[in-house]
Amino acid sequence: MVTSRIMVNKDKNLEETIKELIKKQEELKRSEERYKILAESTKDIIWEGDLVNKKRHFSGKLYEILGYTAEELEDFQRWFDIVHPEDLARVKEEIRQQVEGKVQVKVFEYRVKSKNGIYKWICSNTKCEFNEKGEAIATFGSFTDITRLKEQQKKIHDLAYYDSVTKLPNRVMFTRVITERIQRAKENKSNFAMVFMDLDNFKFVNDSYGHPVGDGLLVEVGKRLEEMNNDKIMSFRLGGDEFIILIEDIESREQVKQYSDQLNKVLGIPYLVSGHMFHVTHSGGIVIYPEDGDTFDELLKNADTAMYKSKESGKGVSSFYHVKMGEAATEKAEIQRDLHRAIEEKEFELYYQPIVNVKNQEVKGCEALIRWNHPEKGVVSPGKFIPIAEENGTIIEIGKWVLKSACKYARKIQCRGNTNFYVSVNISPYQLLQKDFTDYVMDTIKTLEVRPENLVLEITESVLIESLDSAIYKLKELRDNNIRIALDDFGCGYSSLTYLKMLPINIVKVDRSFIKDIESEEDTKNMTNVIILMAKQLGLEVIAEGVEEKYQVDYLKKHGCHMFQGYLISKPLPEKEFNNILEASSLPSSKVAVAQSR
Ligand code: C2E
Ligand code: CA
Ligand code: CA
Repeated sequence: MVTSRIMVNKDKNLEETIKELIKKQEELKRSEERYKILAESTKDIIWEGDLVNKKRHFSGKLYEILGYTAEELEDFQRWFDIVHPEDLARVKEEIRQQVEGKVQVKVFEYRVKSKNGIYKWICSNTKCEFNEKGEAIATFGSFTDITRLKEQQKKIHDLAYYDSVTKLPNRVMFTRVITERIQRAKENKSNFAMVFMDLDNFKFVNDSYGHPVGDGLLVEVGKRLEEMNNDKIMSFRLGGDEFIILIEDIESREQVKQYSDQLNKVLGIPYLVSGHMFHVTHSGGIVIYPEDGDTFDELLKNADTAMYKSKESGKGVSSFYHVKMGEAATEKAEIQRDLHRAIEEKEFELYYQPIVNVKNQEVKGCEALIRWNHPEKGVVSPGKFIPIAEENGTIIEIGKWVLKSACKYARKIQCRGNTNFYVSVNISPYQLLQKDFTDYVMDTIKTLEVRPENLVLEITESVLIESLDSAIYKLKELRDNNIRIALDDFGCGYSSLTYLKMLPINIVKVDRSFIKDIESEEDTKNMTNVIILMAKQLGLEVIAEGVEEKYQVDYLKKHGCHMFQGYLISKPLPEKEFNNILEASSLPSSKVAVAQSR
């Protein structure tokens, strides 16, 4: 009996234990289900890394985001294979610290590669589980997909620090970087150079081709700069057509010079933008820290000054800063300021230089050349103020004044009976860009009663005029109205035969540099004869500029050049003195004796 009672008791205990176990199991199952529902319903990914069995488990969301199957990511090591190589060391270090029990909960961000190769940013929130012996047996926690957040952050960062057109770092970034580099250079006695570059005639591209094309050109320039960058060279766009290149730890000025030459070469290769071909040069200003300034403002100001010096000396070059340049910069600012009042104050005057027949030195016309009688500075040369007037737009008003004054003079001579005498007027490309340019010229000659045959307009082949359809159209219109067009300074810059054919011109003026190079009457090396021949074949009249010596005239005569001008006959003269020349050479033949007028 005793035995059976014990049995009953035992059975009862077992039964209860089993019941309890089942209950617990059910509870566990429910809790697991709850956990599962919770894990699947949250936006985050719940995960566990079993350090004993070297396996990982993630909630379903992860497979959705990254595109892998559970099996593909089960192996413990596999996860590290998809961590971004740049983040891997950091991730491993964070985990190591946790496993060693150095930190409790850890939040950190890194990138993992999804199955399609695109990296996703995750924010990991991790905790470690330890056994009684204090050994880590599991890591677990949650991931949040922060890819979108990161993209937005990057966008905000890029907007603040990068230029939206060229994607180069912008002025804000430039200020930051240079300020930081100055600090660093001070501490470790290092140096750096800054090249301030400004594209030449960029305004022209924008004005004549429109901003989208201008932007397209900037993008291409930006790309070439980017390609030249390395761990010591960084490029920035300051705004407009201005860029800065930072060169760190320089060894010598020579090294910077070499870089700048290379820059000229790379940026000088023609650009193709929206079907237009552009030859672009730039003017550069170079400063070196600490010689040329030890603050940000000073460095930038001096680089800017050096850049302007390059512009002044004919563009397309780069200059190292020099203290003396500071004075030139001040002068430029004064000219800029004074130009505005110069017309009203009647400070401009036209000088005239005779243009004569090569065969018999008969005066056929004259070139009108502007002079500025500045109240304090004396006579300022057009070479100095015309580029500044083009830059600040005053060239338009000045150009109108020149045309009007030259026409008035042409009228006077016409009235004196010399009906074929012409006045040749220099036209800036910026004037030609004005919509009403043709109308303005036609109105002016009409009002002042000048015959179109008595006016010549001199245009220069600006770098970009090549495919400037509207300019060509305007010039054609003028030429059709019997106003002759002369192509000035031929031979320099981008002039070519195709160019001569394309432009509606009547006259070619051979640049002084070619005439200067003529060595004797027999000179065979000089190219001037080729230009003369070429122009004549196209039915153009040829005028040689800057003739100073008798043998140059002989050379020109031998090769059939039609006309010339230069100091050999006369310098440009004020109206009264020029009238004397005309009178002395007695109208109507207007022959000037070469020997006398030197
Ligand atoms: P340019 O049109 O090529 O003018 C010829 C320049 O050569 C003039 O300089 C003239 O004085 C100079 N010259 C003439 N004969 C000789 C010579 O035998 N030897 C030497 N060494 N030089 C000679 P200038 O008057 O200083 O004018 C410089 C430039 O300024 C002109 O070059 C022209 O591009 C521009 N310019 C002058 N007047 C005007 C104007 O009214 N409007 C515009 N847009 N530009 C002008
Ligand atoms: Ca000229
Ligand atoms: Ca010229």
